[in-house]
Amino acid sequence: LYDRDGWIWQDGQWLAWRDAKVHVFIHTLHYGMGCFEGVRAYAGPQGPQLFRVAEHTRRLVESAHALDIPLPFSEAELIDAQRESLTKNGLSSAYLKPTVFLGAEGLGLRAQGLTTHVMIAAWDLGPYLSPHAASHGLRALTSSWARHHVNISLCRAKTSGHYVNSMLALNTAVKAGFDETIMLDPEGYVAEASAANVFLLRDGVLHTPEVTSCLQGITRDSVIQLARDVLGIEVKERRITRDELYTADEAFLTGTAAEILPLRELDGRRIGTRAGAPPLSEPMAANSVTARLQHLYRQAVRGELDAYRHWLTPA
Ligand code: PMP
Repeated sequence: LYDRDGWIWQDGQWLAWRDAKVHVFIHTLHYGMGCFEGVRAYAGPQGPQLFRVAEHTRRLVESAHALDIPLPFSEAELIDAQRESLTKNGLSSAYLKPTVFLGAEGLGLRAQGLTTHVMIAAWDLGPYLSPHAASHGLRALTSSWARHHVNISLCRAKTSGHYVNSMLALNTAVKAGFDETIMLDPEGYVAEASAANVFLLRDGVLHTPEVTSCLQGITRDSVIQLARDVLGIEVKERRITRDELYTADEAFLTGTAAEILPLRELDGRRIGTRAGAPPLSEPMAANSVTARLQHLYRQAVRGELDAYRHWLTPA
């Protein structure tokens, strides 16, 4: 990602992509104290549109506040910079990574007077995994690594250092030949995937873990609203056990990068056998709740659903 054309916003200025560098003593590199967002923009009829940028920016500001990192920019300034990063880079659809990190004024846990830096990079990411993963879904392994606990870290904050835990879990699963991992909370209840929330469908009702160990995903919220208000499906936020995923009628993951990905198998158990799910070699049926939500989400992000146009912000 070093060597490419483009512009990165850092601390109020536009830097040429190749010149956006930091010193090796940057504090966040050493201890992971920082936070970030992942935002997508989609090509609409009137140009690129940021999806739920106000909610993402609010979560970034709240992550920094929870971590006690002073932020020298307002939400409005950060939203403007995200909009401009699309036009400045000539992007029609994009993934944006606003990131807050601490400066190199001191090392050690007691370092004082560290400056806060904010950067926003935007580029054309494309699908998170592959178009095949979106239609045919994923095989996942339940992780032996527990997800965070509310008394160990700040689970609402999208903290840089949290992702060590996600990567330990994901890498173990990928090395074992799986596409994803499902992480349990320290008490053994389902939390989330490595960088996505999880839902299951059973007898026509959607269930998703309550927000304790898992991130309060913005896609999770979008899917809850679309399921309840457009499809008329009841959604319950509660504690879920892994065997409920094994025996679900359908399951899927949600995230800004991942969008909505079917979860087809967990720990070697194919999901939805009793409900007549097709074999893994075939895509999810078009009338499945997963496929219907994927379709609605795709419409929402492109501005094709009038009721959800307020989720979009033009560049
Ligand atoms: N959980 C984790 C750990 C994540 O990193 C993400 C991606 N931001 C999500 C869930 C999904 O959140 P969102 O829908 O807001 O992208």
